[in-house]
Amino acid sequence: MSTDAIDGQAGGFDPAEEAQILDAITKWLERDVKPHVMALEHEDEYPHEMVAQMKELGLFGATIDPEYGGLGLPASTYAKIVTTISEVWMSLTGIFNSHLIMSAAVQRFGTEAQKRAFLPRFATGEMRGGLALTEPDCGTDLQAIRTRAVRDGDDYVINGTKTWISNGIEGSCFALLVKTDTEVQPRHKGMTMFLAEKGPGFRVSRKLEKLGYKGIDSAELIFEDYRVPADRLIGGEEGRGFHHAVGGLELGRINVAARGVGLANAALKDSVAYAQVRKTMGKPICQHQAIQLKLGDMATRCEAARLLVEQAAGAYDRGERCDMEAGMAKLFASEAAVENSMEAMRIHGGYGYSKEFAIERYFRDAPLMCIGEGTNEIQRIIIAKQLVERNPV
Ligand SMILES: Cc1cc2nc3c(=O)[nH]c(=O)nc-3n(C[C@H](O)[C@H](O)[C@H](O)COP(=O)(O)OP(=O)(O)OC[C@H]3O[C@@H](n4cnc5c(N)ncnc54)[C@H](O)[C@@H]3O)c2cc1C
Repeated sequence: MSTDAIDGQAGGFDPAEEAQILDAITKWLERDVKPHVMALEHEDEYPHEMVAQMKELGLFGATIDPEYGGLGLPASTYAKIVTTISEVWMSLTGIFNSHLIMSAAVQRFGTEAQKRAFLPRFATGEMRGGLALTEPDCGTDLQAIRTRAVRDGDDYVINGTKTWISNGIEGSCFALLVKTDTEVQPRHKGMTMFLAEKGPGFRVSRKLEKLGYKGIDSAELIFEDYRVPADRLIGGEEGRGFHHAVGGLELGRINVAARGVGLANAALKDSVAYAQVRKTMGKPICQHQAIQLKLGDMATRCEAARLLVEQAAGAYDRGERCDMEAGMAKLFASEAAVENSMEAMRIHGGYGYSKEFAIERYFRDAPLMCIGEGTNEIQRIIIAKQLVERNPV
């Protein structure tokens, strides 16, 4: 394997360094990913070889501090990486996105001992995982979770079920949100987050079948008298779990928005190329005004979505509050991905519906961006609440 590792540096990425990173990613995508996407996607096969290459590239440590072995990339550079990869195969970004949100929870809220014990292994990809929040009867209303942890000597004993967990089968460690107190009000004060490694009492019950987002594993996880040492409680203090979970959402939303931009771009690029070679009535379809109107709207959506992501990532990197900005980016970019994939299908006519073209994959993948990291209905509510809060009369 000849994948070039990316050189990391703490913060302050200049445009030349960023261009070098994106160039290494683009070369890898062209050489090692593009030729295999169609087959792996249609077979819903986990891309083991690509994961090994992603380890070499340093992607599993992209946003982890260099002190703990990561690349320490700012969110703005990271978002561009996510967009670039999503243009080729969005599923790949899920393999390191939720892993990095778990890592961010440890980096931001963990004890020094937890950081030293876990972050270096997360950064190399030797230990991979994700975020286990959602349960069969609650996703949006996280405070309604029922997975329960009860203190027993130096351990906690955990019982419950998590569902839709990305990397649930291939991953070995998860940031697991539980209830340590079911009585306290407000409910979030009874929530706690653990670093849960697979072991006795922690099993995968099933792989979940999906419309799209193939290749990456989504699973249901069962905890039956699962014992976790008390020193795996993130930050060491009960009742902070909800804060830890929502603390990662801004970056998570920027990630999902960046994926949306990638999908919207891919649909546009394929359409611009196809419209120049497909002829009807004696001329390429790009010369018909009906197609030009679609291309014009698609390109405008791509640019607007990209700028919203850039703005949200910039605010995040400057340490500013950016829930409204991340929400707007996530909302607009995910809807842009849905609209552009539909328009690409129309432009491609019957071939858009064929499994021999990538368009049908964009069409299946795009709706997930409207659901994950807080549905788009919730994003609209967050934006509206922030509008009022920031503009009091
Ligand atoms: C492929 C895939 C991968 C995923 N990966 C992960 C993962 O790695 N880890 C993880 O923890 N979860 C994961 N999820 C779960 C995902 O985060 C949830 O599906 C999402 O948060 C929505 O929750 P829900 O499905 O329970 O929908 P619900 O919360 O039941 O919502 C149903 C509908 O009601 C609307 N709604 C709910 N509450 C309100 C409200 N207050 N106001 C207005 N509208 C409302 C929603 O917008 C939605 O339209 C994944 C899901 C999928 C499909």
